[in-house]
Amino acid sequence: MPALLTTLAHLTGDLSPLRDELVPDPGFLAGEQGGWSEEQQQQARPLAFEVLAAFRDGGCQVAPSPSETDLRTMLDFLTGTPTSAEYVPLLMAELAFPDSDPRAPQWSKNELDADRAFEVVIIGTGMSGILAAFRFKQAGVPFVIVEKNADVGGTWFENTYPGARVDSSNHFCSYSFAQKADWPYHFSTGDVLLEYFRDCTDRFGVRDQIRFKTEVTSAVFDESQDAWSVAIRSADGAEKTLTVQAIISAVGQLNRPKFPDIPGIESFTGPSLHSARWDHDVELAGKRVAVIGNGASASQFVPIVAEQAGQLEIFQRTPSWYVPVPNYHDEVEPGLQWLLRYVPRYAGWYRFWLFWQITDGLLPAAAADPAWADTGRFVSAANQEFAQLLTDYMTAELGDDPDLLQQVLPTYPPASKRIVLDNGAWPNTLKRDNVNLHTDSIAKITPNGVRTADGREHEADVIIFGTGFQASKFLTLMRIEGRNGVDLNEQWEGDARAFKGIMVPNFPNFFMLYGPNTNIVVNGSTTWFAECEVMYVMGCLRLLLEGKHSAIDTKLDVHDAYNKHVDVGNLAMAWGVAEVPSWYRNEFGRSAQNWPFTMLEYWQQMREPDPADHEFIEV
Ligand code: NAP
Repeated sequence: MPALLTTLAHLTGDLSPLRDELVPDPGFLAGEQGGWSEEQQQQARPLAFEVLAAFRDGGCQVAPSPSETDLRTMLDFLTGTPTSAEYVPLLMAELAFPDSDPRAPQWSKNELDADRAFEVVIIGTGMSGILAAFRFKQAGVPFVIVEKNADVGGTWFENTYPGARVDSSNHFCSYSFAQKADWPYHFSTGDVLLEYFRDCTDRFGVRDQIRFKTEVTSAVFDESQDAWSVAIRSADGAEKTLTVQAIISAVGQLNRPKFPDIPGIESFTGPSLHSARWDHDVELAGKRVAVIGNGASASQFVPIVAEQAGQLEIFQRTPSWYVPVPNYHDEVEPGLQWLLRYVPRYAGWYRFWLFWQITDGLLPAAAADPAWADTGRFVSAANQEFAQLLTDYMTAELGDDPDLLQQVLPTYPPASKRIVLDNGAWPNTLKRDNVNLHTDSIAKITPNGVRTADGREHEADVIIFGTGFQASKFLTLMRIEGRNGVDLNEQWEGDARAFKGIMVPNFPNFFMLYGPNTNIVVNGSTTWFAECEVMYVMGCLRLLLEGKHSAIDTKLDVHDAYNKHVDVGNLAMAWGVAEVPSWYRNEFGRSAQNWPFTMLEYWQQMREPDPADHEFIEV
């Protein structure tokens, strides 16, 4: 409803529906209707109906584009706060679809340098790789895509565990230029998302350029030609070298399963599986199942496994914070689908509403206040308040079992590790008769099950590892050799860094998507981030082709200053200061994963590359 009133003001040019008494609370926890009371909703519905009916009766005449002042008024209403004028260009880009696609390249290779041989290899056909392929196609830059799997989809191809679904609303967590009015769920299941990416691949016309079941084993930059030699190996073992001018690495951060270093892990005699490599042939019905881990993945599959298993033992090392999202598993209401389909501009405003609710609007609750002395439990007053809301939720769910409640309440600041969405499924699972939660540390895995530090052996027929991914090991599976024979992993020494998450000095024309420091914590959309990243990459290629340069590298001092800025930013956030295990920090204690600033700042820095940040190489 708040997005609808804003849409109607935009469509009609009449801002009067944006009444002071209807200013919403865009806080994530305020709910879908922005914290409106029943009375406010009763006031807003007939108002919206009246304006919408008049718009229809008037022939759906959309008012001329609003002035910047009017856009600010709409923005301030929807966000419930006077927002910075800097958000207006971002908002306009967000609202552009379906009339235009402002993140698409506004140039073509033919215009810039038609005769030049210039081909790109894209590694991976997850969400980022498909996106990059589409943008290259739009710009007329030839490309080939190499994919190790048998199909596209990346995360959604690999994670087939029961209950896998997106945990940012898919109306926002999808391509801005390929929106869908008919998402069946607010938070779609893995199969729906996989279908979306398959469909996009076909609609974008990029499937024919994909070499499936093929892996890149190495990439070497040949300085004499300013070209990359990319060694690939297909499923039948055949090896080949591709010579290309640029590489896009779109291999993701969260796809190499991490098994815990628990003694005896190899000794277990029953079947064991990892959440990201689910073996659907392993029978769980009626079995004694042990689950290690309780992060975002386990929190999705455990409630379903609990319904099948005879007995389920959950081993929790660190409790997760759970945020209540009542519509987490709900279908999209027909009314919302109708608005998305038929009311012009509604999809854009609804998307922006989600954007604000789950991204920049949430950041203050994750920021560490330097004046806040004790960072053990909370990192600021806003963080403490957030923790209280989450504690109240769990208390409401499990308050009748004080021992269990005590076990699941975290003692670290929210947002220092991943917060998990919940609609009651997790606490309800813990309350089941066939489920036990163990918080004693695991001493070893035995042939028959799991032994905890108190000496008890918990027998199991199957062990499931919900133990996450090797997130810090960026690109360690392939050898990437840049200028002067420098090896990327040797240069990084285990501490991956990049300029804007995309480029690394010494590695010209090598661009990473979802690279170091591009993960968002409190929430957000990796898809939205990828769109910004690809916009930047396309800007670099434009500079390259327009200037007739051979290659583009990043200046070391620029790269270092950028990383310092990001490191300082991360150290001012909950995940940077709190001492709690998570994949948000690497073995050096540095966050090589996260982006600590607003999405606005990310978008601004990605709009156009500054040539002064780069070194251009001529053959
Ligand atoms: P994770 O967040 O890294 O969680 C791993 C779990 O395994 C934690 O509970 C961890 O305990 C436990 N663990 C690891 N090693 C252990 C050991 N040696 N002994 C005992 N317990 C151990 O992994 P994840 O749940 O797969 O999620 C990873 C990320 O993937 C998420 O943060 C999210 O970004 C993404 N994801 C997204 C979605 C979605 O959007 N729907 C769903 C799933 C995952 P500690 O907490 O003590 O380390």
